[in-house]
Amino acid sequence: MMRNALYLAAVLGFGFDSLASAGSWPIPEVVLCCSEMRENPHEILGKESGQIVVVRNMGNVVSLAGQKPDSIEIASVEYAVLHGATKVIVLGHSNCSVIKSVIDDEEAVGHLPAIFQVIHKSVTEATRVVGDDKERLLAEAVRRNVLNSASRLRNDRFVLSKLDSSRCTIVAGCYDSKAKVLEILDEVE
Ligand SMILES: [Zn+2]
Repeated sequence: MMRNALYLAAVLGFGFDSLASAGSWPIPEVVLCCSEMRENPHEILGKESGQIVVVRNMGNVVSLAGQKPDSIEIASVEYAVLHGATKVIVLGHSNCSVIKSVIDDEEAVGHLPAIFQVIHKSVTEATRVVGDDKERLLAEAVRRNVLNSASRLRNDRFVLSKLDSSRCTIVAGCYDSKAKVLEILDEVE
């Protein structure tokens, strides 16, 4: 587990005077994170406005292969990578409300099945590991959901081509908002 400062220095190579200045182009990094208002990706990653492109949806999910409607979040990440981003960060967080909703079997109305279906896969995997204790299940499902999103992005043909040419790194991280700690779950260069 790495604390934010260590992460910034060691993983992102963030030297506070490095990286591009606010509003820079090309895009330095792209972050896929949850839409919940209490989570601020700039604050968590120590970034100023203009230093990251942020793609947000409830649960920081990436569509399953063949899922309809699909790929809008993948397209947003691809756009950032196409325009220079060399780091893709999938950022989940503790006590994610929408993941809890899936665990609690809330009814998926409207277009919600598009998100619930993706998260349900992570909840099922987590249940196999930790059983149905709600607290442990939520923590494990959050972790698996981040890793699954990162894995799906990694398997995206376009992003994959950038990984193959060592042009891009994918980092999967989970932020514990109570402890204010960012845990890096995976990093693939
Ligand atoms: Zn959330």
